[in-house]
Amino acid sequence: MTAASPEPAGAAPRGAEGPGVRTVAAEVAMVGAGAVGLSIGIALATAGITVVLVGTVDARPNGRTVALLEGSVQFLARLGVWRQLRDLAEPLQVMRLVDDTGSLFRGPPVAFDAREIGRDCFGYNIQNHLLVAGLAEAARAVPGLTLLPGRLERFAFGPDRVAAEGPDGLSVSGTVLVAADGRRSAARRAAGIGVREVPYPQEALTATLHHDRPHRNVSTEFHTRQGPFTLVPLPGSAEAEHRSSLVWGMAPEAAERRAALPPERLARDIERQSRMLLGRIRVVGPVGRFPIASLKADRLVGPRIAVAGEAAHAMAPIGAQGLNLSLRDAAALSEVLADARRGGEDLGAPAVLDRYARTRQGDIAARSFGVDWLNRAILDDRLPTDLLRGAGLLAMSSIGPLRRLAMRQGLMPGADADAAATR
Ligand SMILES: Cc1cc2nc3c(=O)[nH]c(=O)nc-3n(C[C@H](O)[C@H](O)[C@H](O)COP(=O)(O)OP(=O)(O)OC[C@H]3O[C@@H](n4cnc5c(N)ncnc54)[C@H](O)[C@@H]3O)c2cc1C
Repeated sequence: MTAASPEPAGAAPRGAEGPGVRTVAAEVAMVGAGAVGLSIGIALATAGITVVLVGTVDARPNGRTVALLEGSVQFLARLGVWRQLRDLAEPLQVMRLVDDTGSLFRGPPVAFDAREIGRDCFGYNIQNHLLVAGLAEAARAVPGLTLLPGRLERFAFGPDRVAAEGPDGLSVSGTVLVAADGRRSAARRAAGIGVREVPYPQEALTATLHHDRPHRNVSTEFHTRQGPFTLVPLPGSAEAEHRSSLVWGMAPEAAERRAALPPERLARDIERQSRMLLGRIRVVGPVGRFPIASLKADRLVGPRIAVAGEAAHAMAPIGAQGLNLSLRDAAALSEVLADARRGGEDLGAPAVLDRYARTRQGDIAARSFGVDWLNRAILDDRLPTDLLRGAGLLAMSSIGPLRRLAMRQGLMPGADADAAATR
């Protein structure tokens, strides 16, 4: 397979069709229609860049939610999608950490309250499938963005263009390929970008819960020896006034056993683990299972390719970091490419792609390290680690300025990333 001839800047995506064949050329070719791919596609097309994005939108409920922090909400607002999503999401006012490891040096519970740093809330919790469905609807309506269902499997990186093909006669090309195809990214692999992946002995069980007591916009993360057990507020619905989502990290065998339980039995386990914090619980809808791993790509860019979101980094679901980090990639990449387009540069030129990599690498390295350390520290029952973790929680609970600094960093990390995410 060879990469086709250059596409003029600003042209509409060009298509050619024949029996069993569909070819689309644009300025930017993209793979992966998850939250990250869709948001980059919308941002680029809104900036006047033609985009062809290949991926099947999966908007089926899977019991999973994402807590979108302030920078992510601002980015989605700039894309024009937040207004529709806001009513489906619940504000998070307080984030509480509870050390439930049973350690000798157990730290006190820590409550991070957004009002302490002059905010109404840290962000909003939304069901993942509603976020993806909302982004897909917006993507279909943006001129200059062609969203095609399917998969891309073969990639050819030429000197001026990159081309990619699916198994069903679909072929696309662009001056640059944006890989947002998740942690098993085929595009990343084809570009020869390696990853460092460390699996944890954990899976996350996810579910939607209806409960008796109000959540009062408080998210509670219990740190247990098998992983985090987190209850995150959701808005009430026609069926239930009080709803929350659950992310429960545990050993894979325990996840398999619990996922197979009848919903009422699983609900009793959840009530026990949550110490009846939310009163009686009902598990509603599908229960999801997600293997937990830490993954980091060796590079964010290569010849005519940029990787973003879980294609570039994945981490344990602690402290609502994963998608928030990924949406900062999305904001940074779309801004770098839009700037390059305004300056008449080749969007796939190494100098352009390096600007994206430089903007993002510090934030990604810091978050990956921090989440990995915390997850290991919870699982590790050796005394020095317990002591350090307990001391950290004690300091957070008793030293106001430290707690407020941690809150600001959680919301709006590092100057570079901050600027990219909030501009
Ligand atoms: C249990 C759990 C809870 C989480 N909670 C939070 C939270 O509260 N806050 C937070 O910020 N983050 C959270 N995360 C992380 C967050 O969900 C992920 O970071 C986010 O979903 C990654 O989005 P993505 O678009 O990069 O990848 P994905 O959602 O994996 O999307 C990739 C897309 O690419 C498609 N694809 C793959 N290969 C191809 C191909 N060859 N051709 C075409 N398409 C392809 C896939 O089908 C998929 O649609 C959580 C994660 C888990 C597992």
